[in-house]
Amino acid sequence: MAEFPKSIKNLIDAFERLPGIGPKGATRLVFYLLNTPKAYVNDLSQALVKMKEETKICQKCFSVSEQNICSICNNDHRNHRQICVVERAIDVMAIENIGEFKGVYHVLGGVINPLDHIGPDDLKIDELVNRVRTICEEELKKMGEESNNCYIVEVILATNPTMEGEATALHIKKRLEGLNIKISRIGSGLPIGADLEYADQATLCRALDGRRDL
Ligand SMILES: [Zn+2]
Repeated sequence: MAEFPKSIKNLIDAFERLPGIGPKGATRLVFYLLNTPKAYVNDLSQALVKMKEETKICQKCFSVSEQNICSICNNDHRNHRQICVVERAIDVMAIENIGEFKGVYHVLGGVINPLDHIGPDDLKIDELVNRVRTICEEELKKMGEESNNCYIVEVILATNPTMEGEATALHIKKRLEGLNIKISRIGSGLPIGADLEYADQATLCRALDGRRDL
């Protein structure tokens, strides 16, 4: 790489660490910023810092939020007995963009991946099991005797259709065994190995509608 001043080189290095940006793209961005008004650069740097400072993790579903409990978990019009389990908060955004799903979410924070030394304990799986169990107990109390033969809660496993995503879905299914719940897996239409966040809305909508019992 050409010998740029240190401040420029530092910023190129920083941009290069972002996903999907190579050396050429990083250099282009830096020189673009160099030629924009200072006010814009100030706004951009402040927005970056604020994003980090003001974003919290929802204590219920572990998605991103401005409050301790996110706006979805806090919404009485959502179906709190239908929980869609996803790998990352960005998947919540992808499904929310379809505008069809009226349940709530649970963000695992990744998938089980032995190669990366990520086991079940590194993900929010215990939290999911406890959450589902608590909802079941509360609903049972509310419904009384008549609840024996109906599913109270549906857990939709919407991890990516990759090897790790499938293994994680199966692990969660086993952990939820014994609870009187419906467990389903999204699938049809999503290409194997694909990421939810890159799926177009129609495909994602089909995958959600066409979920099968697991
Ligand atoms: Zn939440």
